[in-house]
Amino acid sequence: MTAIVHDFRSDTVTRPCSGMRKAMAVAEVGDDVYGQDRTVAALEGRVAEIMGKAAGLFLPSGTQSNLIALMIHCGRGDEFIAGQNAHCYKYEAGGAAVLGSIQPQPVENLPDGTMDLGKIAAAIKPEDPHFARTRLLALENTIGGRILPEDFVREATGLARQHGLATHLDGARIFNAAVGSGRRAGELAAPFDTVSVCLSKGLGAPVGSVLVGSTDAIATGRRLRKMLGGGMRQAGILAAAGLYALENNVARLAEDHARARRLAEGFAQYPGLSLEMPQTNINFMRVEERLGDRFAEHMAASGIGVSGRYGELRWVTHKDVGDDALAAALEAAGAFFKGQGERVFAAQ
Ligand SMILES: *Cc1c(COP(=O)(O)O)cnc(C)c1O
Repeated sequence: MTAIVHDFRSDTVTRPCSGMRKAMAVAEVGDDVYGQDRTVAALEGRVAEIMGKAAGLFLPSGTQSNLIALMIHCGRGDEFIAGQNAHCYKYEAGGAAVLGSIQPQPVENLPDGTMDLGKIAAAIKPEDPHFARTRLLALENTIGGRILPEDFVREATGLARQHGLATHLDGARIFNAAVGSGRRAGELAAPFDTVSVCLSKGLGAPVGSVLVGSTDAIATGRRLRKMLGGGMRQAGILAAAGLYALENNVARLAEDHARARRLAEGFAQYPGLSLEMPQTNINFMRVEERLGDRFAEHMAASGIGVSGRYGELRWVTHKDVGDDALAAALEAAGAFFKGQGERVFAAQ
């Protein structure tokens, strides 16, 4: 297998830069389970402040952050509503059911990442001993790289509140949504009781997520974090990377979005590839069936890393794929369509 030179598989592959490593090396630390790591406390406070919430909790992963949020809002036998494609439903190994005894109620996602409000309303169960108690609506922004429309968020969270449900936002990429829509992250977070934010995606930190919400919610979350094995000791070394990321790597997400668009425009000239113009840093590419896996194989052989695990090719731009990577990917596509690709289409 050819080594990956330009890695478009995910923004999780970003590595800490030297400035971030320096900040980590000099971080003041203490035992955070005793509440004595000032760098962790500073990070929790900073994310809470940006999101307009009272308190924050530093966690080792986004998956644990979402799980803790679900467990804050739902008890044993309760139910949460989430999109069929939501990370907290589909990509977290069934953790809510296994570890929280919480039943998921998925609702179909429309192509723009929203859900039909009537379907959400219909999924909320009335008080009746036959049903699980519906407690929470969980949304995700961005979802599949798409920014949730403001109206949808307002109406869906309004509907949830009308029915007495809590609201959680999986904001793993909320800063991509903010930069992509020109709105402040705090505005996007405002309609939700809890919000989970990833530092280890496009923000470029090696590890970590922060869950924010009310003082009570976060106090409950702190107990749950210990229970789930997420209490960390001198975690200030990691939190320092998060603080550095918030300071240095948010505004630059606009560059990733611009490169994702250039990538989509570049690929658009080739027959057999179809892409939508991306809103943020994620491109999903459908490859015509008659090309089979040849396009993906050609990319791999050219040292271009692209993710193809879920039926489409996914190209993600991030701080470690610059203009050289973009040029290499488009050049590899050009070479493919001059060679093999042309033969495939000529044979029709
Ligand atoms: C990556 C991601 C998570 C989970 O983050 P991990 O740190 O990989 O556990 C949650 N939600 C969304 C939308 C994500 O993209």
